[in-house]
Amino acid sequence: MTETDCIFCKIIQGEIPSTTVHDDELVTAFRDINPVAPTHILIVPKKHIEDNNAFEAGADDAVAARLFAVAKQLAQAEGIAESGYRLIMNCGSDGGQEIQHLHLHLIGGRKMQYPMG
Ligand code: 5GP
Ligand code: ZN
Repeated sequence: MTETDCIFCKIIQGEIPSTTVHDDELVTAFRDINPVAPTHILIVPKKHIEDNNAFEAGADDAVAARLFAVAKQLAQAEGIAESGYRLIMNCGSDGGQEIQHLHLHLIGGRKMQYPMG
């Protein structure tokens, strides 16, 4: 999948609407269209990185750090920091990745079991 037909690039560029909950120079975050829990947010680098395999150590370090910092911040804002939450990044076919633009799922607000299937 290239940047031009990537759904998340289109959301980042404002071509597809989304419920944005965070936006800065490196990452954006919006609510998942098909939430699996009361809180289900996708935290997405603005740079089109296809998946964890495409992550470039060094060049993308600031992006990785920001994903986790924003996850912490949003968990607090959503009121789930204390009750707990799950951070999931799917990679590739066996990992269940549907959108080939790297993203971190922040999921919380209910009890979850590991694994989900
Ligand atoms: P993946 O399986 O790639 O880790 O997760 C992709 C996620 O993106 C799914 O949870 C799916 O519900 C969500 N999603 C797919 N298309 C859209 C969309 O157009 N808008 C939003 N907000 N979420 C989407
Ligand atoms: Zn993209």
